[in-house]
Amino acid sequence: MLVVVIVPLKHHRMQFPREVIVGNGSIDRIGEISRRLGFTESALIMAGRKTFDIAGRKVKELLEKKEGMTVDTLIVENATVKDVEVVEEKIGTLKPQVVFAVGGGTKIDVAKCSSANLGIPFISVPTTASHDGIASPLSSIKGSEKPYSVMAQAPWAIVADTRIIMRAPWRFAVSGCEDVIAKFTAVKDWKLAHEDKNEYYGGYAASLALMSAKHIMENVARMRSKSEEGLRVLLEALISCGVSMSIAGSSRPCSGSEHLFSHALDVIRPNHAMHGEKCGVGTIMMTYLHGGNWKRMRDALKKLGAPTNARELGVEREDVLKALKMATSMRPERYTILNKLNLRRQSYEHLARVTEVI
Ligand SMILES: [Zn+2]
Repeated sequence: MLVVVIVPLKHHRMQFPREVIVGNGSIDRIGEISRRLGFTESALIMAGRKTFDIAGRKVKELLEKKEGMTVDTLIVENATVKDVEVVEEKIGTLKPQVVFAVGGGTKIDVAKCSSANLGIPFISVPTTASHDGIASPLSSIKGSEKPYSVMAQAPWAIVADTRIIMRAPWRFAVSGCEDVIAKFTAVKDWKLAHEDKNEYYGGYAASLALMSAKHIMENVARMRSKSEEGLRVLLEALISCGVSMSIAGSSRPCSGSEHLFSHALDVIRPNHAMHGEKCGVGTIMMTYLHGGNWKRMRDALKKLGAPTNARELGVEREDVLKALKMATSMRPERYTILNKLNLRRQSYEHLARVTEVI
């Protein structure tokens, strides 16, 4: 008797940006990029009020005057579920060929999510380099069921103009560095989930994220000098992190227990510190739990001028302990060192004390 066993093939879909332009004055090339990608008729620019002044108006002018495109503008101030709905409605009515997201993290998140839902391509034009969302296929929306990033779509192009990004407070760049340094523990957690739970582990994606983190560690001095060259290093690292998530098909290579801690702190004390800052402090503690060299992490953050404890984050000692306790519940399916160790309150207190976070 012949027995035919049909093994279902797993499909692994990866989406990448087609063009990435980093450099001083790269925004001037927006028309040419748009044309090359086949967007020659209509566009919608999504920006915040400030970011429209900083870069959005320039994008609009270049597309209208030089390319003869019809360009509409939509100003968005937040990144809530409601904002996404408003943007989706606008995209649905205007039906632009492409959406340009001009801004920091939140504006890009809204544009990424809403354009993905409507099947319209989007181009990322970051005005800050504060986290890896500027290049990743994931977006995080406040007030959604999930307090973390979910799959949306990768940007078709990324136009990161260092002249524009240099104008943002340096604290944003420091936060970006911390979001990259967080990959050390994110990758450790991913490997752990593979070993303990047989979760899919992509060695290439993990190596790419790790390489970005090492690159930032090697360039701490350059970052300290607040130079445009340092910003370029950071942008390349953030973009590589975004690509690593595209390869992995999830945020796994870039988000582990340190991000869960950050998400929990977001819930306990909303708007208290920047995303990268919370992840940075999380990385110090999670490195300790993984048995790694946490002092090396803390020293690097200190050199960058980043917060390394509760006080510098602007939160209370009790908030840190609560966040550590809450972290695993932020995302129950994401197995990390916190699940493995399943610590009690006393141990969390010990962890935060030993690493001098509290
Ligand atoms: Zn992050």
